[in-house]
Amino acid sequence: MPEGDTIHYAAARIGAVLQGHVPEEILTPHPRHQLDRWPQRLAGNAVRAVDAHGKHLFLRFEGGLTLHSHLRMTGSWGVYREGERWRRARRRAWLVLRHAGVEVVEFDGPVLELMSDARTRSDPRLTALGQDVIGERFDEASFLARLRRDDQTRPIGDALLNQSTLAGIGNVWKAECCFAVGIDPWRALAAVSDQEALALVSFARERMPISAREGFAARPRAVYGRAGRPCERCGTLILRRGQGENNRVTYWCPGCQR
Ligand SMILES: [Zn+2]
Repeated sequence: MPEGDTIHYAAARIGAVLQGHVPEEILTPHPRHQLDRWPQRLAGNAVRAVDAHGKHLFLRFEGGLTLHSHLRMTGSWGVYREGERWRRARRRAWLVLRHAGVEVVEFDGPVLELMSDARTRSDPRLTALGQDVIGERFDEASFLARLRRDDQTRPIGDALLNQSTLAGIGNVWKAECCFAVGIDPWRALAAVSDQEALALVSFARERMPISAREGFAARPRAVYGRAGRPCERCGTLILRRGQGENNRVTYWCPGCQR
């Protein structure tokens, strides 16, 4: 699943093409949106801003409309020079914006909607979100208050995925943050001190902007996807197991994560 850094990376690339411009062409090839008349409703309006909050991406148009996207497990954004081969099949494109010889493409939804600017400020799915982990400013007290409102028997690894506590962390980053700080992702929230919780966030806030800027390859890979291989810190073999109500796989070192 794409995490906050990937969405910020996409927003920056899309913004570089579209921000301040009226897209030359907007297409909604997917049958689900064929009757929605987005090209007509957006016609003549410049893209005011492209930004992200956690895993949500917003293309804000002049005229009071915003395209909102969430990729969940399946979706993807691509930015291609015209004529360049797309990384997914054409029939999987839900939205294409063409401008200045570049194609911005959203593939496979699954959340792609045109909403009023007012709704972006009132939609409960959006207003419930915690602070963006990659946000410039970060209010530690507000983060801790939200963390402590969560079920304190929940393992910290699972709690880090709660987007209403903190927006943007997914499976890879939860595993890497816990490893970096030496915390066992199975430890109950009640047994994680405020200082430890803030250390987890600081690691994410230090490292996620790097992959948001440079892309996926700049992410740390100390434990994620490394089950059965020796820990780089202590040599113990890394374990993997499903965690939480959605059984999201977590990786950790039983030797040095406590
Ligand atoms: Zn270790």
